[in-house]
Amino acid sequence: MNKHRFGSPAAATIFMQVHPHLHGKRGVDLLHEPLLNKGTAFTERERDALGLRGLLPPRITTQQEQLARVLETVRNKPTDLERYIYLVSLQERNENLFYRLMTDYIGEMMPLIYTPTVGLACQRYALIFRRPRGLFISLRDRGHVKQILQNWPHADVRMIVVTDGERILGLGDLGTNGMGIPVGKLSLYTACAGVAPELCLPVTIDVGTNNQELRDDTHYLGLRQPRERGAAYDGLIDEFVNAVQDIFPLACIQFEDFGNANAFRLLQQYRDRICTFNDDIQGTASVALAGILSALRISGASLSSQCFLFQGAGEAGIGIGELLVGALRAEGLSEADARRRCWYVDSKGLIVASRQDLSSHKRNFAHDHPGTKTLLAAVEALRPTMLIGVSGMAGAFDERVVQAMGKLNPHPVIFALSNPTSKAECTAAQAYTWTEGRAIFASGSPFPDFTLHGRTHQPGQGNNAYIFPGVGLGIIASQAQRVTDEMFFVAAKVLAGKVTDGDLSVGRVYPDLHRIREVSAAIAEAVAEVVFERGLTTMRRPVNLFERVQALMYDPNYTEYV
Ligand code: NAD
Repeated sequence: MNKHRFGSPAAATIFMQVHPHLHGKRGVDLLHEPLLNKGTAFTERERDALGLRGLLPPRITTQQEQLARVLETVRNKPTDLERYIYLVSLQERNENLFYRLMTDYIGEMMPLIYTPTVGLACQRYALIFRRPRGLFISLRDRGHVKQILQNWPHADVRMIVVTDGERILGLGDLGTNGMGIPVGKLSLYTACAGVAPELCLPVTIDVGTNNQELRDDTHYLGLRQPRERGAAYDGLIDEFVNAVQDIFPLACIQFEDFGNANAFRLLQQYRDRICTFNDDIQGTASVALAGILSALRISGASLSSQCFLFQGAGEAGIGIGELLVGALRAEGLSEADARRRCWYVDSKGLIVASRQDLSSHKRNFAHDHPGTKTLLAAVEALRPTMLIGVSGMAGAFDERVVQAMGKLNPHPVIFALSNPTSKAECTAAQAYTWTEGRAIFASGSPFPDFTLHGRTHQPGQGNNAYIFPGVGLGIIASQAQRVTDEMFFVAAKVLAGKVTDGDLSVGRVYPDLHRIREVSAAIAEAVAEVVFERGLTTMRRPVNLFERVQALMYDPNYTEYV
């Protein structure tokens, strides 16, 4: 059964070995198994052999016909939230068709299953809740986390995305409602890199919420208590991490949308112990570095001649800065010089050495300099070449700030990375208009093309989905035991290398999203190469690594079961 699900018969055999419970499904059970269901596409022979006759309308349709039907249905929905709900229900009944739609229409579907729509879906989580997806682990489950993991129906999990819901996109603490994020991210692992859906496990850890509105909401589905901190919090996370090592020893844990104090701390605590990374810190850094490298191809300048000013010094901002320091050092700069190229403005103004209120991750970028209160004053004082917004402060790049960047630079780089769209520091139209079309612009959530004085600009989306799915596939392909910054550095270089001159000519610093599976496969190969070179696995390097990567990539086409 399902022999073409993967790119090679060997991978298909592995699939059936690790999912014996999928063998022998028939009749209604088969129709209710989303990994196998094909709906009206079951053939006459299959309907007879698998006890399906009479359970489906008589006309047999192809996957292509089904695709046209679901696409029309999605497009006819009145709102993006309705589209999201429909897509989730499609995923719940027919994963192959869902991923066929995702793969073939990724540019149109990604903003629906991920940012910006997923933000709204999380905010409305209780009202749109139909079927649970993923595992919920709460403070009440202390001592039982292993059993919870054993309740998951798939024995071989390779990628776990876990959140505690404290910082969902730029929307803040959404408690258990944050589950939309791990679910959406894992869908992107499959759609963008072909990580098979059954290898993916979304997890939400509910330790309460400090969002009073949610706690007062009669429909809220999480624990109605303030967020637990300290030993009880750490104990639950540790129990979860240890249980994963026991139950799913080959799984990588991706920490996602944790509040920044916990995010930095947990990464530090676990990165040398288990296979783990934090996409908000490391994935963001990699995608931003790729955009920076592409922008330099447009401006013709070198990385080491840049001055970076960040608005926001949280997970994203500091993550990007740390990876940039590595990239600058690779260009020959000393660590101190590299750090001096990166400047930060946070909610209290410019981060400088004299400030007493800095956490350790900010302190690494606190330079001797007089403080400034506003972003504009910082731009004027530091004369940055690149301005990167990761503060969640909508409109922070106002006309005066953007114009100041335009005065200082022939090609000012303006990255407004905050999500969702409503939180972007400026819009694409503003960045182009206020710099007479000279800005090199990218954003976190997508913006439409913008035409100014007869020239059409295509803003790039600095979407982490260019990076984490490929990194994950590389980890799976090499059975990596650790995840290192070097992997995100090579991933950035591979991604930048996939940007064509044609992309750059319209101002796009990322490749067309339609090439995402090709990009992810190349990233996976490069990441796996690092794993083997650094001895971060006990697996032997396959002779043809790229073939191994491709063979693992799930293909959402239907196969004949009989
Ligand atoms: P975070 O909470 O860790 O950090 C936010 C930072 O912004 C903090 O340092 C805070 O001090 C600072 N800040 C708050 N108000 C400010 C103000 N008025 N002026 C200047 N700084 C201010 O969050 P994060 O994980 O770093 O994410 C920040 C934003 O970046 C979010 O909107 C997120 O969606 C976005 N993001 C985008 C991408 C992407 O585009 N690929 C990836 C990750 C995060």
